[in-house]
Amino acid sequence: MAGIEPQPGIMEISLYVGGKSSVEGVSNIVKLSSNENPYGPSPAAQEAVRRSLHEMHRYPPTDHAALREAIAEAHGLEADRIICGVGSDEVLQFLCHAYAGAGDEVIHTEHGFAMYRILAHAVGATPVEVPERERVVCVDSILEACTERTRLVFIANPNNPTGTMIGLSEIERLAANLPERALLVLDGAYAEYVEGYDGGAKLVHARDNVVMTRTFSKLYGLGGMRVGWGYGPREIIDVLNRIRQPFNLSGVALAAAEAAVRDSAYVEKSRSENTRLRAWLAEALAEHGVPSDASTANFVLARFADAEEAAACDTYLQGQGILVRRVTGYKLPAALRITVGDEASCRRVAHCIGLFKAGAR
Ligand code: PMP
Repeated sequence: MAGIEPQPGIMEISLYVGGKSSVEGVSNIVKLSSNENPYGPSPAAQEAVRRSLHEMHRYPPTDHAALREAIAEAHGLEADRIICGVGSDEVLQFLCHAYAGAGDEVIHTEHGFAMYRILAHAVGATPVEVPERERVVCVDSILEACTERTRLVFIANPNNPTGTMIGLSEIERLAANLPERALLVLDGAYAEYVEGYDGGAKLVHARDNVVMTRTFSKLYGLGGMRVGWGYGPREIIDVLNRIRQPFNLSGVALAAAEAAVRDSAYVEKSRSENTRLRAWLAEALAEHGVPSDASTANFVLARFADAEEAAACDTYLQGQGILVRRVTGYKLPAALRITVGDEASCRRVAHCIGLFKAGAR
């Protein structure tokens, strides 16, 4: 359309490709492609959704006070420093919208989450990709890449799709050495899977240049409800709230998330099952000659001889009704990311990869 042009940066965006959820002609799919909780949400969350439905004609609360209180209680945080979004994606979007624009740089890492690049381009900023070291985020590389134009630094800890993470002392070192105008965004979409890790909450309390983001899409089993949150300095949360749509979260989503975060027993069970089955899956794959990095999340990154073998295995698994994730777009063409499913799914995917490695096609 002559003369009608999008804003600079938008045509640089490659569309986000989500995990596959079906294969034509194949029923009984085992979906291990989107890092979802295989047990679904807490029954209490399902009940809360049912109870909330009769309020469908009402606008939801704009301040998310009840959910923020519930999150604050569960995680030992201050409710007035929490902002809720339509998935943590929306909180990441608020951050880009508020703090980056044309002429600014947004740092993300080599195998980092695809949305960082997309969101930076969407606001006209320049995404700057920084190398990792053997699929682990490297603080020195990030610090080297910083300039006076750096406004945001995104790191996912644990990282997706590698599953690796870096220690709090490294994150502290990063935050302490960033340029004055740069904000560190610690994306903790998988933080709950790591026993004893606070996702960076203490660092947020100690510094004024760190924001942490979290989600209900993974451990809490509410990917379809689209609820995430951020935690940061009050001044930053105030800025983000100014650009947030007042009714961004539906009443149903708020009810589901509040009940889910209060059901700590269910959360604990999901976490411990994930830990047990993740170790089992990694070991079973290794026995079939498929190594993976030590994962701290709810997936493993299975490494194949080359891109061709990874693609052939993906095709073979699809034929068996098993969906995993190719991560070519994350510069990992020889790997497949496999969500830790329930026990039956883990056994099935390991068995089929074993057959594939033994020559089945
Ligand atoms: N960060 C990371 C690292 C992720 O893997 C994801 C989900 N794929 C998100 C953020 C966004 O999740 P959501 O918007 O569902 O909270």
